[in-house]
Amino acid sequence: MIAQRLEGVGASETLVIAAKAKELKDQGIDIVSLTIGEPDFDTPIHIKQAAIDALNEGFTKYTAPEGIPELRKAIVEQIKNDLGLDYNWKQVVVTNGSKQALYNFFQAALNKGDQVLVPAPYWLSYPPMLRLAGAVPKILNTTPRQGFKIIPEQLKKAIKPKTKAIILNSPSNPTGATYTKTELEALAAILEEHNLWVLSDDAYSKMLYEDQPFYSIAKFSKKLCEKTIIFNTLSKSYAMTGWRVGYAVGPQEILTAVGVIQSQSTSGVNAIAQKAALKAIIGPQACVRAMVKEFEQRRAVGLEELSKIKKVSCFKPPGAFYLFPDVSKYYKTRFQNRQINTSEDMATYLLEEARVATIPGKVFGADKYIRLSYATSIANIQKGIARIKEALEQLQY
Ligand SMILES: *Cc1c(COP(=O)(O)O)cnc(C)c1O
Repeated sequence: MIAQRLEGVGASETLVIAAKAKELKDQGIDIVSLTIGEPDFDTPIHIKQAAIDALNEGFTKYTAPEGIPELRKAIVEQIKNDLGLDYNWKQVVVTNGSKQALYNFFQAALNKGDQVLVPAPYWLSYPPMLRLAGAVPKILNTTPRQGFKIIPEQLKKAIKPKTKAIILNSPSNPTGATYTKTELEALAAILEEHNLWVLSDDAYSKMLYEDQPFYSIAKFSKKLCEKTIIFNTLSKSYAMTGWRVGYAVGPQEILTAVGVIQSQSTSGVNAIAQKAALKAIIGPQACVRAMVKEFEQRRAVGLEELSKIKKVSCFKPPGAFYLFPDVSKYYKTRFQNRQINTSEDMATYLLEEARVATIPGKVFGADKYIRLSYATSIANIQKGIARIKEALEQLQY
């Protein structure tokens, strides 16, 4: 018998779809995959070298569960430089990706029945991770007209006595939406008046285009900073998804509790990966800028290709590496005896008929859309979207 806490919780859907696409690919079928939620670049060489050195030096033993002090200190230094925020290094817990940081936080801070505000479209892991902690996700829907961002009125109305936390993910996966300084300020003014945790998932903080700066909501006031936990990861910015290094930083008391969960579950992150992460943070940052520049060019190509499809509209994402086009004008259509009514029908149709793998918007709480990742070559983006165009235009009403 499976434990009750797993009721309604399944494996990560994006990983399932990516696996299905890979299966078809392995059968020799020419699939263009636009599902990838990770940079296609290799981890920069100086970071890999740091791991090799760590191995050769025998740095292969358990570390402190919260991470090696050098890395925690480097993280504090980077946050000071990037965000202008001051933390003590003991306020940092290094985790197996920021996914574990979020998981640990939910376990450490939430009780059964606590409500957590989750703006949609959301990163698909939030609701199941909240449910595993016994908490209840409260979805706040946003539209492209709102720039896929919650507005102050909406936030005000949503906060109830049982509301324990809100998750902000800017730039967002899947939309790329990014709150401006003014918008954050308006939300901060409301959040300051309430006693709830503000979870800032900054996984894409370094992946902003057109040289926009990144702002942290923790910066607006000391009072708010004391309720904010910053989650970040080396996965996206340093092309290190498989290394599994992320972290949480915030008020000491809750971070100590996050460290307890870590200590009683996985212990410290892989020692070698921590040394590599240290190098990533203290080493040259030109590799990050180069990747962002490349993503910016791909974003332009993707938007250009999508604009050629008559009934598709797409929000221009200021950050991250996803496009989130509205394909719902092609719902209630069919191709032969296949009916397209939902984003899942659409993604299946595109995979099986157009041989393009995409992620249905439903898994992010937004059924009118599909997610296309542009963390792939320009040739793939062009080929993939051209195939989508052809497949959509043969649908019949
Ligand atoms: C990728 C991602 C993460 C965390 O990834 P890790 O590899 O676990 O660090 C967290 N939030 C969002 C929105 C992401 O896209």
